Amino acid sequence: MALLENESFDGIGKQIHEFMTNLYPICRSITGNGVRDSLKQIKQYLPNLEIHEVPSGSEVFDWKIPNEWNIKDAFVKNSLGEKVIDFNNSNLHVLNYSTPIHTKLHLDELKKHLFSLEKYPDWIPYKTSYYDQNWGFCLSHNQLINLPEDEYEVSIDSSLESGSLTYGELLLKGETDDEVIFSTYVCHPSMCNDNLSGPTILTYLAKEISKRKTKLSYRFLFLPETIGAITWLSINKNNLNKIKAGLVATCLGDPGNFTYKKSKLGISYIDKITIKLLEDNSSDFKIEEFKPFGSDERQYCSPGINLPIGSLMKTMYYKFPEYHTSADNLEFVTPKSLESSFLMYYKIYETLEDNDYYENLNPMCEPQLGKRGLRNNIGGPKETNNFQESIDWILNMSDGKNSLLDIAIKSNLNFELIKKCADILEKNQLIKKI
Ligand code: ZN
Repeated sequence: MALLENESFDGIGKQIHEFMTNLYPICRSITGNGVRDSLKQIKQYLPNLEIHEVPSGSEVFDWKIPNEWNIKDAFVKNSLGEKVIDFNNSNLHVLNYSTPIHTKLHLDELKKHLFSLEKYPDWIPYKTSYYDQNWGFCLSHNQLINLPEDEYEVSIDSSLESGSLTYGELLLKGETDDEVIFSTYVCHPSMCNDNLSGPTILTYLAKEISKRKTKLSYRFLFLPETIGAITWLSINKNNLNKIKAGLVATCLGDPGNFTYKKSKLGISYIDKITIKLLEDNSSDFKIEEFKPFGSDERQYCSPGINLPIGSLMKTMYYKFPEYHTSADNLEFVTPKSLESSFLMYYKIYETLEDNDYYENLNPMCEPQLGKRGLRNNIGGPKETNNFQESIDWILNMSDGKNSLLDIAIKSNLNFELIKKCADILEKNQLIKKI
């Protein structure tokens, strides 16, 4: 990918991976101190990040904010007092949102509360029970089948009490109120592709954009998945018309190729930009039509909301075996993949900023390019060709109704080249930004 040559972002994949390493041990959920601690770390990079607390019991559209869940410790001990399952070894061992319990049980009773994954017998599955009060432990299938008959002591030192739902929001105000949303979730415990790749990449993206003067406004959302997006949309339902484009960031660190899941509209601005940039910069990628399952695009693209928001990922959730297991760890995601994802998101931001409309100032037949040095004397033969084609397309299509992106799509030329040529034509006073 040509973008990797961008010197100024050298080593950013490694930095993102290091940030992920710091967030990895935290036991997150849809509410509680795990989310708060993660947002606090994000705030160290983004000092203007606002942290919102929405009280338990608040009604958000058809939902109610649940009680807040926190956990200190959990274990299962055998009759010798040895811990056979220990929350301190992996926070995936506890069914997320488990109610507190301290009791003794025989194996057959305990097994009703144990979850494993037969297909990948060495991995611990990730399970949740947010809205049905329950308790349980997750463990590798090999561990489960080797548990001997015994009386076990079960302890989950958790609390499920009135509190709040926490989310983070950062608005980077541009020259206009037209807004772009970058949304991700912060509710999964120790897993990296789904989901720490999303918040870590968006933190770095927001940090970069915050250094620049922008045309558009950019809103970054760090929410607990589903209930957080529903909450944000419910609170902000009267301000949604400002949103011109958006992406849900998830699964951005595995070694696979890019996948773009279109918005429900399918032909929205973000769909056009993302697909064009994937064509320009990536040799192999997948396009997925919108489906009403997956991440927070389910809420953003629900019929009453229907925002132009898609999702750019590497390998899609559900489609990599490590998904929602302990194998989605710090080794599964690579700095190289995180870097290429960051750069693609950055490229999308740049294109959103650069995609202007121009008017041809010499619309009466073609202007004479030779006398302006714009024919035959730039670059090598192939490059010259693309350059000249690009110049001709821009001059012909700059009638105020076609953006540079429209021209790049129509001409099948790289957006970056079209932008460079538009700058040259503008300098030569052949076109004018409108
Ligand atoms: Zn997930």
